[in-house]
Amino acid sequence: MSQEVIVIGGGLAGSEAAWQAAQSGVSVTLYEMRPVEMTPAHQTDHLAELVCSNSLGSNLLDRAAGLLKQELRKLGSIILRCADETAVPAGGALAVGREAFSSLVTERIGSHPLIRIIREEAREIPADVPTVIATGPLTSPAMAECLQDLTGQEHLYFYDAMAPIVALESIDRSKVFRASRYGRGDDDYINCPMTRGEYERFVDDLLRAETIRLRSFEEEDEKFFEACLPVEVIARRGRDALAFGPLRPVGLVDPRTGKRPHAVVQLRQDDMAGTLYNMVGFQTNLKWSEQKRVFSLIPGLEGAEFVRYGQMHRNTFINGPALLEATMQCRSAKHLFLGGQITGTEGYIGSTASGLLAGLNVARYAAGASLIVLPHTTMIGALCCYVSSARMKTFQPMKGNFGILPPLGRKIRRKSERNTAYAERALIDLGEMIRECDLDVDMCRQDMFLAVASSLDRIPGQLQAPRGSNSGESEGQTEGKSGVSSRAVDFA
Ligand SMILES: Cc1cc2nc3c(=O)[nH]c(=O)nc-3n(C[C@H](O)[C@H](O)[C@H](O)COP(=O)(O)OP(=O)(O)OC[C@H]3O[C@@H](n4cnc5c(N)ncnc54)[C@H](O)[C@@H]3O)c2cc1C
Repeated sequence: MSQEVIVIGGGLAGSEAAWQAAQSGVSVTLYEMRPVEMTPAHQTDHLAELVCSNSLGSNLLDRAAGLLKQELRKLGSIILRCADETAVPAGGALAVGREAFSSLVTERIGSHPLIRIIREEAREIPADVPTVIATGPLTSPAMAECLQDLTGQEHLYFYDAMAPIVALESIDRSKVFRASRYGRGDDDYINCPMTRGEYERFVDDLLRAETIRLRSFEEEDEKFFEACLPVEVIARRGRDALAFGPLRPVGLVDPRTGKRPHAVVQLRQDDMAGTLYNMVGFQTNLKWSEQKRVFSLIPGLEGAEFVRYGQMHRNTFINGPALLEATMQCRSAKHLFLGGQITGTEGYIGSTASGLLAGLNVARYAAGASLIVLPHTTMIGALCCYVSSARMKTFQPMKGNFGILPPLGRKIRRKSERNTAYAERALIDLGEMIRECDLDVDMCRQDMFLAVASSLDRIPGQLQAPRGSNSGESEGQTEGKSGVSSRAVDFA
């Protein structure tokens, strides 16, 4: 067997896959087409560029995204490591300095002795070299055709959208206030409060605003808006829909009035320097001139400078259940593995997760070792299981969520306690699997653990680990897959 593998696509999944394969001891050739060929959304030549929000989602262990991250840390993820090192304040979420994050990933991947990066579009799928395809939702047309030949079926399309970014110095600070919802974290968000009157006027104008015309094949797939609804589409569903959705004011009190506003637009820091702010949940397909006009009605944003307008794009993914094993191996071509959003594991972290497994397994395949299936009780295992075994006919991409995990086998009424129990079980089972498979995930875990432990310290009721300890044991009472109860969770 070849001890060399190819990874196509240097996004979040491809970078993670390349790193995992190289860390397993095989040589990796990583093809990334940027900057020679660009996608409609990427703007730099960095690996693992974040094309929209700079938030990787919750860092809390009783949230699915938080558990997914912790599992990735446990597995030695390079993406999570770089994210933790470039984190910016974002309450209970993990948000990163966009530029610093992708520069760091590029540097780490570029300096790995077993990884060679080739800046070229891959226009065909290698016939016999073990390969990971991780070309993402904006896969180049040539590779999309190859995938179509491989899969023997039409691709599916859906939309995703980018929220606008505004310059901090252009925000009228006399009208906004800094706070995190429910006081979680420091004053990480800039909040633009709206009275009922201001909200009504905003909704009126939003409903009348002109959108960018969709191409006909995209219109047929409007159902895919569900995956990432633009604000104007939410507003069309009901006048109060935004106030109960991305503009919900719960957990926020305007210090100038001492009251909860009728609605709030939240802005989250987007870069390490703290000069750019992302409009949280403001995906949109409005014309750019309309974005300027309508979003300037938001208190504090009257004179905002939009450094990036919101945009919508086509996303491409394969029908995973028809094509993939839970190892991320392609059923019809055993030397091929797929990772990232193209498999249907949605979002930055979901994509990283399937990329990680594809990278581990392509290296094992190349070395003639047995492939790994992650325990279904883990969030990564459950996601990879979902995209390889959901109903083919109705298959849709999936974000990590507790609903895809097997039941606990005991009733826990309170949601946060139930989710914590899921998390404890997942981390125990993952720890056991790492030991059983003798996975070498030792890479500087101690400081990763400390970063996470310090973020958890702020959240009451979360799994806690003693600070400064590198044993990483929590006080959780848990039940793992082997039925072992009262065991401490092994974070490290
Ligand atoms: C417009 C838009 C906005 C999004 N916003 C969010 C968000 O806010 N939050 C979120 O969690 N997720 C978001 N997503 C989803 C996000 O793209 C994915 O979650 C994540 O980036 C997917 O990771 P990936 O590695 O699969 O793909 P990508 O990160 O897109 O990486 C794929 C890489 O492959 C390269 N490539 C493509 N074809 C070839 C080829 N033939 N040869 C060589 N290289 C190739 C591309 O240049 C790219 O670098 C968004 C997606 C889009 C399209």
